[in-house]
Amino acid sequence: MKTIALIAHDGKKSEMLEFVKQYKDKLQTFHLVATGTTGGMIAENTGLEVERMFSGPVGGDVQIAAKVATKQVSAVIFFVDELAKHPHDPDIRTLLRLCNVHNTPLATNPATAQLLLAGDL
Ligand code: PGA
Repeated sequence: MKTIALIAHDGKKSEMLEFVKQYKDKLQTFHLVATGTTGGMIAENTGLEVERMFSGPVGGDVQIAAKVATKQVSAVIFFVDELAKHPHDPDIRTLLRLCNVHNTPLATNPATAQLLLAGDL
């Protein structure tokens, strides 16, 4: 089973939940990994099984970045809040950077995530 990583900043968590509910049938065919708070929210509200890393600000983004670098993740859906400041910005950059270094599909907004899931992962 292939793995998709799910991450949403606080200002984007409601959009993530909407998205996951809309694509639940497709997403349940993947192993799901997520940062702590995003993963807890998804599991609690959708019943999907989610492997939870640390919360983003305390290392969760870096844990997912390591999985990208070691090819344990097939795609990343990361709803980034560009209107907020993030204390863990270097970690966010690391995750985005490693997706690009390793040519891992990366969607940073719902419109692109929709296209990503319609593709052949
Ligand atoms: P969270 O982390 O899911 O634990 O809120 C996301 C982030 O801020 O990178």
